[in-house]
Amino acid sequence: PGLDVYAVAGNPIAHSKSPAIHQRFAEQSQQAIHYGRLQPALDGFETAANVFFAAGGKGMNVTVPFKLDAKAFAQELSPRAQLAGAVNTLSIHNGKIVGDNTDGAGLVRDLLAQGIRMQGARILVLGAGGAARGVLGPLLDQLPQQLVLANRSAPKADALVQLFCELASTRQLTLQSARLIDLEGSVITNAPFDLVINATAAGLDNASPISDSVANNIFSPKSFAYDMVYGQVTPLMRQALQRGARVSDGLGMLVEQAADAFLIWRGSQWSEAIDPRAVLDELRSI
Ligand code: NDP
Repeated sequence: PGLDVYAVAGNPIAHSKSPAIHQRFAEQSQQAIHYGRLQPALDGFETAANVFFAAGGKGMNVTVPFKLDAKAFAQELSPRAQLAGAVNTLSIHNGKIVGDNTDGAGLVRDLLAQGIRMQGARILVLGAGGAARGVLGPLLDQLPQQLVLANRSAPKADALVQLFCELASTRQLTLQSARLIDLEGSVITNAPFDLVINATAAGLDNASPISDSVANNIFSPKSFAYDMVYGQVTPLMRQALQRGARVSDGLGMLVEQAADAFLIWRGSQWSEAIDPRAVLDELRSI
């Protein structure tokens, strides 16, 4: 029999690090897999995924802008994919295509690995798109004291907070929405924050979602700023560093969400064999 075939689908996809990450997990666990890249047309995810699985593909990672298409494509959803409203991992289970979302678990594991405890913390999440939605459930599971979700446009932040308010109230924590601009003023109590997570796409354009005066309000030397964008010191990370805070980009999240996907496909018995932190160190040294 040939090698089991996996792929990451996105558009654009040429610079994805997922193939390299999964090949390293395969080497660490002494397995042989084939992992490629797929770039469907923007309206072509369903066709591409159908062809891939019909040809015997075993599993797919899904990135921007197809996470909602992947949710629609899946025949079953894991509870966390249902909650996230988006799918980043497709696998086959009992003949059915199952959608899962490992982004939030990846973020939380990367933060914990960097010594950041979320229990009892005051957390600010910037952005209310797919990435923010995917991480809110796992962040709330860590039992922070307060989580503020701030977005450029208000309706998206309000809708997202609405979606998670029941989960927050069962955990007796404060969940509130805000506009980014509100962070200028005194609307936000409890600032500065222990943890600020940038889940906006602003870093991709080499911009920060917040002004310097907001940065003065939300960061202290005790803060930790996490930007989901990776491979660069983003403007938001720079604002945090200038105020004495510690920072991280999102490369660890990428590696950790990939580790979860790898174990979904290959089986949890490989969890001891793979070493995501070593893979992260290797990627950083390239
Ligand atoms: P979406 O398009 O779904 O959402 C984008 C969000 O960014 C919206 O909240 C939007 O606000 C906000 N935004 C965009 N530009 C600006 C700006 N200039 N100033 C302020 N807010 C802005 O994207 P995703 O949520 O899917 O992805 C967000 C980022 O996270 C991307 O950069 C992606 O690469 C990264 N990511 C990283 C992962 C990792 O493993 N490290 C995993 C997943 C995502 P509005 O609603 O007002 O338009």
